Amino acid sequence: MPTLDSNVVLIAGGVGGARMAEGLAHALPDGALTVIANVGDDDDFYGLRVCPDIDTLVYTLSNRIDRKQGWGVADDTVRALDVLGTLAAPTWMKLGDADFGLHIWRSWQLAAGNSLTRVTQEAAKRLGARARILPASDDPVRTKLRTTDGWMDFQPWFVGRRCEPQVLELRYDGVEQAKAGAEALAAIEAAELIVFAPSNPLLSIEPILAIDGFRSAIAASRGLRVGVSPLIGGKAIKGPLTRLMAGLDLRTSSCGIAIRYNGLLDGFVIDMQDLPESDELQGRGLSVLPTDILMRDPQDAERLAAEILAWTAALREHRERAAS
Ligand code: GDP
Ligand code: CA
Repeated sequence: MPTLDSNVVLIAGGVGGARMAEGLAHALPDGALTVIANVGDDDDFYGLRVCPDIDTLVYTLSNRIDRKQGWGVADDTVRALDVLGTLAAPTWMKLGDADFGLHIWRSWQLAAGNSLTRVTQEAAKRLGARARILPASDDPVRTKLRTTDGWMDFQPWFVGRRCEPQVLELRYDGVEQAKAGAEALAAIEAAELIVFAPSNPLLSIEPILAIDGFRSAIAASRGLRVGVSPLIGGKAIKGPLTRLMAGLDLRTSSCGIAIRYNGLLDGFVIDMQDLPESDELQGRGLSVLPTDILMRDPQDAERLAAEILAWTAALREHRERAAS
């Protein structure tokens, strides 16, 4: 049995990221996992800062998540939202009462001058999340989409319009000025293993990679770097990924995803169904783990995480033997 890594970094968005994070947190020793979270979906509602990907990670890793929806707090109520509706405020962003508690606390802590990194770590710890969660940046990065209806902010497109307007172009506002979170960068530098979650590459992973410092730190890492495909048989398990990629003329396959991370990966995890893609991935210099990559429940996520950890341990042994 190879020893498990004590320094693992997961680069993640919301739902796909959180499922992988939960699996890794269970399969690894306590304290080994750091999750670097996308902030491109963050937005302000009623003066409160909402960080959907961080929130999904915190709720999943603390077992508070509504597992049927994949986001929000289980058994949450919407009385605050009902009052807001009566007061004629827009209520398309579905924020539950328990959820509001976190947004109020976060906004209060940020207004008092604390960084998003500090506030996120504190929330994760106090709510009992089983991993360290770090925002990619303390500065605002906001994903904008040019659609057939013109430029839109992310949440009005994703939640407000249910991803319906066709996307023609993406940009990450603020990304040139944003500084990579110092603790997030340090975690990458110290990582023995970096995992790209099966998150949406365009909406979750690339808003992180576009921040100055992340790509070069990952490229220079002495750790192993592997990605997990969010597609099975060319289809996303959930969300707008397939339509988004097709609309932008990108290949909707696991290879198409791996190509987005060109130069940053040593290996890629694909579904058994996509075994025919192995040759092309190997041709691109990647080691391939074909397995069942659907995470139906936390046990399944832990099973996938354990397989990935065993595979990466073997890859590392192989690499060390080749170098000696
Ligand atoms: P979001 O920020 O909530 O949209 O979530 P992410 O970007 O982290 O993840 C979205 C992606 O997760 C989608 O493209 C899904 O295909 C993928 N996904 C969701 N569940 C699973 C799963 O069980 N296995 C794999 N491999 N991918 C998944
Ligand atoms: Ca998201």
